[in-house]
Amino acid sequence: MLTDPGQKTTTRGSVFIETYGCQMNRVDSEIVTTLLEEHGYERANSIDDAGIILINTCAVREHAQEKAISNIAHFRAFKERNKDIRIGVIGCLSKHLGDELAERLPFLDWVMGPDAYRALPGLLQQERTKLPKIVLDGKGLELYDEILPARREGINAWVTISRGCNNHCTYCVVPGARGEERNRPAISILREIEKAVSDGFPQVTLLGQNVNSYQHNSDMFADLLEKVGKIEGLKRIRFMTSHPKDCSDNLLEILGSGLPFCPELHLPVQAGSNHTLKRMGRGYTREHYLSLVEKARSTVPGLLLSTDIIVGFPGESEKEFEETADLVRKVGYDDAYIYRYSERPGTPAANMNDDVANEDKVRRLMILNDLVRESGAFNRTLMIGKTYPVIIEGLSAKSDQESMGRTPAGHVVVIPEKMEPGEEVQVKMVKLSGFTLRGRVV
Ligand code: SAH
Ligand code: SF4
Repeated sequence: MLTDPGQKTTTRGSVFIETYGCQMNRVDSEIVTTLLEEHGYERANSIDDAGIILINTCAVREHAQEKAISNIAHFRAFKERNKDIRIGVIGCLSKHLGDELAERLPFLDWVMGPDAYRALPGLLQQERTKLPKIVLDGKGLELYDEILPARREGINAWVTISRGCNNHCTYCVVPGARGEERNRPAISILREIEKAVSDGFPQVTLLGQNVNSYQHNSDMFADLLEKVGKIEGLKRIRFMTSHPKDCSDNLLEILGSGLPFCPELHLPVQAGSNHTLKRMGRGYTREHYLSLVEKARSTVPGLLLSTDIIVGFPGESEKEFEETADLVRKVGYDDAYIYRYSERPGTPAANMNDDVANEDKVRRLMILNDLVRESGAFNRTLMIGKTYPVIIEGLSAKSDQESMGRTPAGHVVVIPEKMEPGEEVQVKMVKLSGFTLRGRVV
């Protein structure tokens, strides 16, 4: 959030990072923090105390891109108040827009891509230039493997296991912005998680654009998971994102074997019509997806299934959309993120005709949202009366007299008691209010 820059004296060596976009950006911000701390900079308590402001950005959809650019434009006021302040944009949007971003926001000091962060401490030593310095790439594709993210908050440690993506979904900027997939060695992932557990994090979420395609030497994703499962003191293991074309039986069996493996699968389908899936370049069919869901449900008891869907992809007819709606009804998702198609320059789909009217995109999005709200509520109702082991994450968003925690599958539950984050309690589900379960400790 932006606040008035005020007249405060700032610490030149303190850094504030504002993060947009996915969880991988969140980890990247923690990595950048570590990199700067290693060079003697410190974390600012608030944006008003910062001498260096970095904005870590996302380029996946145009709407989010434009919103981020207009938010970043407000940072000019900080410069007007204090000419010594340094402001840089990092992340996928920098890589995606490059010069254009520098031209639109000339007051910036740097525009820096996701593989260039090691250059940051060096840049901070250099004299300021009139126009932004544009550093889109590093010496090669990065893993930042040895840099421990500076994590401080919550009960969950987000751990990136791979960067980039080898798929070529025709609508997506990620392969262009983050480069091809490269995977971290299992040994350094395990070391990082062991450290997180000893720092007090009971839960880990493994992150990658497509975790299912993880491979390092002879370790496949299922092997990595089994190794992570042996770490002492680690209570919950989650991961995202799973690609339907690479989700193995082996993986489902591990998921079904019980805690510390959480029965949760985020399995983006994107569309339920084979014609649309083909134009999207997703590499699987509707039939494959539905049979995978069936297998997952029968192998993993109490599975929480969520997805991503794009409505209004170029050429999506009413009939094709109906096939998506039908798939959503058949699967009965617990949660879903539904997006209107957004044309991204440089992607193959940008050469297709973005011919679905915005009002149709909005209507389709609302139809799918309603379906998921219905199935999500229905699935949660079935949990009422049952008891689950819940780890408390903090106070509930609505009241400081209530706590919020998660079941193993990841359902949020609100409990009318104040408890410590990390506490593990048995909770009986009492009722559903909106999309949130309410429960009491038994
Ligand atoms: N690697 C993940 C997610 C990447 S981006 C995966 O493959 O699922 C997160 C989500 O943003 C995608 O799942 C997709 O639903 C959405 N998305 C990506 N590009 C988009 C675009 N051009 N327009 C609308 N939504 C998009
Ligand atoms: Fe983008 Fe597809 Fe890769 Fe996901 S799998 S990051 S949607 S290209």
